[in-house]
Amino acid sequence: MQTLVIVESPAKAKTIEKYLGKGYVVKASVGHIRDLPKSNKNAIDIQAGFVPNYEIVQKKQEIIKELSSFAKKSDKVLLATDRDREGEAIAWHLVEALKLPKEKTKRIAFNEITKDAVQEAIKHPREIDQNLRKAQEARRVLDRLVGYDLSGLIWKKVRYGLSAGRVQSPALRILMEREREIRAFIPEAYWVLTANVVSHDYTFSLTCTEEPKEEAEANRIVAVAKEGSWFVKDIKETEQKRAPRPPFTTSTLQQTASTRLGFSPSKTMAVAQKLYEAGHITYMRTDSLTLSEAALGMLSSVIEKNFGKSFIEITKYKTKSKNAQEAHEAIRPTNPVKIRAGSTDEQKRLYNLIWMRTVASQMKSAQLAKTKILANIAGETIPDFAVRGSRVVYDGWLKADPAARGEDVELPQVHKGDSLTLTSIESEGKYTTPPNRYTEAGLVKELEKSGIGRPSTYASIMKNLADRGYVEKQGKTLIPTDTGDVVSSFLEKYFKDYISNSFTADMENELDEIANGTREYVATLKNFYTTFSEEVKSKENIEKLTNLGPVPKEFTCPKCQAPMEYKLGRGGKFMSCTKYPECDGARTNSGDIVEPDKPLGIYPETGEEIFVLNGRFGPYVQVGDPKKAKEKGKKEKPRRASLPKDKDPSEVTLEEALTYLTLPRVLGVHPVTNEPITASVGRFGPYIVHQKDFRSLKKDDVYTITLERALEILAEEKKTRKGRFAKK
Ligand SMILES: [Zn+2]
Repeated sequence: MQTLVIVESPAKAKTIEKYLGKGYVVKASVGHIRDLPKSNKNAIDIQAGFVPNYEIVQKKQEIIKELSSFAKKSDKVLLATDRDREGEAIAWHLVEALKLPKEKTKRIAFNEITKDAVQEAIKHPREIDQNLRKAQEARRVLDRLVGYDLSGLIWKKVRYGLSAGRVQSPALRILMEREREIRAFIPEAYWVLTANVVSHDYTFSLTCTEEPKEEAEANRIVAVAKEGSWFVKDIKETEQKRAPRPPFTTSTLQQTASTRLGFSPSKTMAVAQKLYEAGHITYMRTDSLTLSEAALGMLSSVIEKNFGKSFIEITKYKTKSKNAQEAHEAIRPTNPVKIRAGSTDEQKRLYNLIWMRTVASQMKSAQLAKTKILANIAGETIPDFAVRGSRVVYDGWLKADPAARGEDVELPQVHKGDSLTLTSIESEGKYTTPPNRYTEAGLVKELEKSGIGRPSTYASIMKNLADRGYVEKQGKTLIPTDTGDVVSSFLEKYFKDYISNSFTADMENELDEIANGTREYVATLKNFYTTFSEEVKSKENIEKLTNLGPVPKEFTCPKCQAPMEYKLGRGGKFMSCTKYPECDGARTNSGDIVEPDKPLGIYPETGEEIFVLNGRFGPYVQVGDPKKAKEKGKKEKPRRASLPKDKDPSEVTLEEALTYLTLPRVLGVHPVTNEPITASVGRFGPYIVHQKDFRSLKKDDVYTITLERALEILAEEKKTRKGRFAKK
């Protein structure tokens, strides 16, 4: 009797194998084995009911073969992928791709990779949950269709190569709305007044409780204050309770790891994944605040042992999300007795954060004493001045999470009615500041609040925005780029509803309903896509967005002095002459003059000039002036060559350009076929080709590779796209 257990990652396989012992073989699929084809609308058969045409993920053929042979040798197959929709989908793809017989295949799921949890799960195998699986499929199909259609439109109407997405675009809009607030912000002046006083040989400072907006008023207060006799008007003491925070969900973990550890959301998820796979924490994609009864029991004894019995206060937090049943628990240590866990520094720090938060969540509230001293002058003809202090009376949960404690602010021992001696008073003029830009943590919080995205998607939304060049990260701050601005403005103008918070949140809820089994897949997609595709079609004839508005008047065309307008280029916004294409004068976004393309030198073979230019697929060198070629209406394509990947176009020398222009190079003829072998550089890098047999060059230099070496490479077995060995 042998049981095959399939999980998605080798690390998880290793941990599980320890717990199962004899009779079990644990293997990893290493993520998804099937997916939609890379970029192709036919990936989905809309007519047939939004049926995805999955294909085997590149390089997975070997793994499938291996898993298949293990499955054949086993009496039972258990699919133990992660417990969420993604995991359910991977399990289903395994059944389909490996053609696993229904009678010997079962699904098991657990929330933590511990001996008890794994053995318990083995006792309760079930069928694949088709609702969860369908919900994952619906998201994938929806995102593909929306991304494909919207991006296609943006390519035509804004600029080639841009992208838009169902969830990514609302996130970008949120950033842009804040950016516009910042741009429209008008700073206002205000004055901060500080009085330094002495009482019983003790010096301290008080701040005016009002911040005058007029300098004259600030000056009046200062003048009156200097003449007045100061006294302690009142002392107010308040007790304040600070309750612990609930245990971590995905979003609060990402936020706290960002502020406390400086981790980006994707880094937090990657590190958490490692901790989960090693059995240290429960599943990290969750929006549940619940802790299991067993966990609460363990936490009680951990608190008693580490801090004392009196600190325990068991709290059951209510989960806000309507659909938290897929992952039953908050993120917590699987064994809180372990204060430290993890094999790298990052893992240790994240584990410590999770440990503190979980333990603190089951401890008593802290008690703080807050004191406010109010002072004024006799007659009270100026606003009160105040100083605040605070002190922890009882630390409660802060004992487990000292970083949340903050410093005590001690106040001088004064009494109501005491007189004070003013030593000096300062008036400082300030300006109000615009709202802050979002940090990654702040955006995750905003997305969760608006119901956009789910625990499994926050990190990828952040990553997408950066990868697309729509935001730049400065420290933790997200700054939308010009390109992000243009794309968002375009979508806000033409697809306002589709990128609104409510629409996106409703769609997420519908996906949740598919997962619950209360909503139907085809009807949901049809309902959405029918109107959406009509909406996209109706925009076919809108004008191409070429003009992004006039530039400040001080900038005129450097060639003809005509007014200029903003346009979107490859590197962002730039200023372009309004007479374009008759005049091609241009300036950068900051107004610097863009030099017209100067030739690098002469191409000896034809006597034409050589230029460095920028194209769809990156910078290249060209023989012959591009404008002259256009004027002549030359049919013949000019000679061109791509720059090597890391080459800065502004640093290309004539010598280098001539080297690049040696491509494509004919190395010689193949001794068997008598057909030429050529070396060149394409979109995907340097390669050699013989009779349509393309081989990319990894170590060899495309400019110097010899015929001999090329024959060697061509003689090697070729891995085809599907990972199979090609027939010779
Ligand atoms: Zn001009």
